[in-house]
Amino acid sequence: MYNTQNIFYKILKSEIPNKTIYEDENILCFYDINPKSKIHALVIPKMNYIDFNDFVTNANPTLVSNFFKKVNDIAVDILFLENFKIITNNGAGAGQEVFHFHVHILG
Ligand code: AMP
Repeated sequence: MYNTQNIFYKILKSEIPNKTIYEDENILCFYDINPKSKIHALVIPKMNYIDFNDFVTNANPTLVSNFFKKVNDIAVDILFLENFKIITNNGAGAGQEVFHFHVHILG
């Protein structure tokens, strides 16, 4: 069950500030507060999904496809990265700390 007490839900509700990189009606991308590389961005859907499994299983396939295309476009066209890693931690045992689905872009 999705918990609305998570930090990214509060960011989406503008209750907590963020350093926005890109935003549209479906997606928000912002800088990670504790960067693990020179460029560390997070991309989240505006709809509430707990993790990768929840997102790809339950979201509209067009939304899923557009989300991952946009992750690439942000990395390449906005962050100007040629070399980057895309990471998503699925579940606490994999290191997930915030239970609103997100992708890390590490450049
Ligand atoms: P994960 O471990 O995959 O759930 O990643 C959660 C990420 O969220 C971590 O890299 C944190 O540094 C980052 N984070 C936590 N709080 C904030 C915040 N208020 N603004 C930006 N990034 C955050």
